[in-house]
Amino acid sequence: MSFQEYFGEPHRLIRNKVRQFIESEINPFVNEWEAKGEFPRELYRKAGEAGVLGIGYPKAYGGSGGDIFVKIASNEELMRCGSAGIVAGLGSLDISIPPILSVGTEEQKARFVTPVLKGSKIAALGVTEPSGGSDVANLSTRAILRDDHYVVSGSKMFITSGLRANQLTCAVRTGVEGYSGISFLVIDSDTPGYSVSEKLEKMGWWASDTAQIFFDECKVPADNLLGKEGQGFYLIMDNFQNERLQLSIMANMTSQLALEESLKYVKEKIAPGRSLSSFQVTRHKLADMATLVEASREFVYRVAAKIDAGSKQVKEISMAKNFSCMVSDQVTYDASQIHGRFGYLREYLIERLCRDNRILSIGGGTTEIMKEVISKYIVGK
Ligand SMILES: Cc1cc2nc3c(=O)[nH]c(=O)nc-3n(C[C@H](O)[C@H](O)[C@H](O)COP(=O)(O)OP(=O)(O)OC[C@H]3O[C@@H](n4cnc5c(N)ncnc54)[C@H](O)[C@@H]3O)c2cc1C
Repeated sequence: MSFQEYFGEPHRLIRNKVRQFIESEINPFVNEWEAKGEFPRELYRKAGEAGVLGIGYPKAYGGSGGDIFVKIASNEELMRCGSAGIVAGLGSLDISIPPILSVGTEEQKARFVTPVLKGSKIAALGVTEPSGGSDVANLSTRAILRDDHYVVSGSKMFITSGLRANQLTCAVRTGVEGYSGISFLVIDSDTPGYSVSEKLEKMGWWASDTAQIFFDECKVPADNLLGKEGQGFYLIMDNFQNERLQLSIMANMTSQLALEESLKYVKEKIAPGRSLSSFQVTRHKLADMATLVEASREFVYRVAAKIDAGSKQVKEISMAKNFSCMVSDQVTYDASQIHGRFGYLREYLIERLCRDNRILSIGGGTTEIMKEVISKYIVGK
């Protein structure tokens, strides 16, 4: 299958739409928002109105529909703004809406999905807790059913868009210890007892807000339970598949941008007496970088195409995430090396790409957890 078979006319139109949006609404302000550590809340509404937030989501709830590659095309173009923090912040709906679409009732979808795709509400996902993110089965935020509501107590940590979110798709313990006692509730941030920390200062993704959220006996309507009690762990695992695919796309675009920046740089920069692009060592490094980027991109597309065709790709998604992150680690490092001292300056995109890249092999499941998944498939339990 070639590139043309993954992407046709609908994807080209999506790319144009997103490119126009970032050129007018994001690119002129990226450096300012990065330095400030946030983008305006208004951007969600603008992205909603431009139809960017709804790309790939069902038309019934305000989306524009389409296959898996429309979302890939959209995220690739968004990454071209050069701030993965903006992409992560604006895209927090992509990790918080799918469980609602998967098992939510029609009433829940109308209440929790449509306003988010419009950009009038912000959605976040709460799985990770202060004790850690890998050991999902042992999360401890407790939800106790009393009459027509749950009483929720506990805390979630490292929540993207946590500071500004209106609603949190939140994993809670409603039953016994272990994976079978976990459920998903959608919690409104206006609920009494719901509070948010200061913004967490991070190495990268500066423009995305990341926060800790506290629940002090929050009364959450039982109607906000997604699916059935005890279904939460399976929903989290399912949701991870999509998140890991999107993180692989982010990693590939990070590599692509680092490669493009390097190609520009070597043509412009003159080392004493010679152009940087004339050094064989530089040319070979660029050849290696380009090879890795292309191999990683093709692998991720291939896995996405199989998912789109209805095949489960749990092992392959884990491989894709690890491979694309290994490639982005290598390519950003090499690109920074090619830039020499200038790659250490804020004004060069490669500096931000290196910082933003670091989270990709941690978030959504670490490299080690991906290897646990892969080895279960190839070696057995
Ligand atoms: C910027 C940012 C944004 C985030 N956004 C969100 C969000 O919106 N919502 C959300 O719920 N979470 C979010 N997270 C949390 C993220 O999903 C977790 O960081 C991730 O799941 C890894 O968990 P951890 O960082 O707690 O690592 P830990 O679980 O503490 O692991 C620490 C180390 O131990 C290793 N390790 C752990 N268990 C095993 C094992 N069984 N075998 C081998 N090695 C192991 C890990 O690989 C890692 O190297 C975010 C994190 C960051 C930094």
